[in-house]
Amino acid sequence: MTIELTQHYFENKLPRMTKPTTISQLISNPSCLDDYDPNSMPVAKARLFIQQFLSPVRETECLPLRECLGRVLAKDILSPANVPNYDNSAMDGYAFNVADIGAALPTRLKVIGAAFAGRAFNGVLARGDCVRIMTGAAMPLGADTVVVQERVSLEADTITLIDAPKPHANVRFAGEDLHIGQTVLAAGHLMRPADLGLIASLGIADVEVYRKLKVAFFSTGDELVGLGKPLETGQVYDSNRYTLYGMLSRLGVEIIDLGAITDDPALLEAALLNAAKQADVVITSGGVSVGEADYMKLLLAKHGQVMFWKVAMKPGRPLAYGKVANAHYFGLPGNPVAVMVTFYQFVREAMLRLMGQPNSAPLPVFKVECTQAIKKLAGRTEFQRGILFADTDGNWRVKPTGAQGSALLSSMSLANCFIVLDESVGNLETGALVQVQVLDGII
Ligand code: AMP
Ligand code: MG
Repeated sequence: MTIELTQHYFENKLPRMTKPTTISQLISNPSCLDDYDPNSMPVAKARLFIQQFLSPVRETECLPLRECLGRVLAKDILSPANVPNYDNSAMDGYAFNVADIGAALPTRLKVIGAAFAGRAFNGVLARGDCVRIMTGAAMPLGADTVVVQERVSLEADTITLIDAPKPHANVRFAGEDLHIGQTVLAAGHLMRPADLGLIASLGIADVEVYRKLKVAFFSTGDELVGLGKPLETGQVYDSNRYTLYGMLSRLGVEIIDLGAITDDPALLEAALLNAAKQADVVITSGGVSVGEADYMKLLLAKHGQVMFWKVAMKPGRPLAYGKVANAHYFGLPGNPVAVMVTFYQFVREAMLRLMGQPNSAPLPVFKVECTQAIKKLAGRTEFQRGILFADTDGNWRVKPTGAQGSALLSSMSLANCFIVLDESVGNLETGALVQVQVLDGII
């Protein structure tokens, strides 16, 4: 199997790469692309590269609205009606016809009835009439403006207007939010809580979405031990499958946990084939660094088209990407923090695209002041763990969580953001502006 790089990719995305090729060609002859260097792959280029090979799921299913949270719309949602469906009041007050108001205030109007949300006033206003009206109530015939109750004085069945209201004030007109036939949400949209409400406001009960992405993963390593067993010297508990489970759960994919596999080629091969057979995406952790790379490399070369990169980043330097049979494959590093960083920097975005969202993008980045000096080598992108906090002057600033080792998972638990230090950045003084990516609130 070969996967074509599109012409578009070379023309628009990476102009310095000269020749269209395939993953297979790249593996056997990396020099066929001018600046393709698997031993120093910039983060942005790795992202672009991965994007070119992602083929989203096609199958769709029609689900009850609530079950569509976190799923991607397979068809445009068109408004079957105007929203709101009728002109109604935005405030509690009195509805009247603005033409009845003369230039010389105060104006007196007679209250001839009341309109409530869900209980309309059925009469028609004559000249000089008004109707007591509540928020959401349909505008009575003959009325076009609402004056809020605080701007009138009421005596028996007569109100006196204190000041001149603007024509059509406090009225929500039919179709003001959405008009009939309008595309409310486009195919490819990831459904969030507001969207459930928006679609419900149209009276639509079932929605066509792409099917769930199936993601299989396993850990690799002779040293890994499952929970509930005692640790011998040299062993560690397999924590990566738990962070992966958590991150994948937030993405709303179907999770297939294939356990921890020892560094045994036959077992790894069986696990890989089993994973690729049943999933759209296979994720492994560990075994892609130099020591074991050849091991995995041989195996993956036999069954797929997989590239091993040393991405110019910290943590997360070793990373493998490609295809095994029809499944997309991500070989993440073994170190627990590196697993999370590479997931959020590469896998999340790729996964959203595979789920059917065409415009998936890296997490947003913005700049804040850092309250501590940072040591950093230029030449690679660093994703330090940071804590964004509201400082005493009310401004938000960031500080690193402390030690930044890629095995220190506690740094991820403490962090509420990544501090993203680009390749060109070196040591930073206290007070320097740094880029942050907020972790809280990631769907
Ligand atoms: P590797 O990439 O396989 O060389 O692993 C790098 C480091 O990550 C080693 O210290 C491993 O023990 C550790 N590691 C690998 N897989 C896991 C895992 N599933 N859970 C916790 N630590 C791991
Ligand atoms: Mg290992």
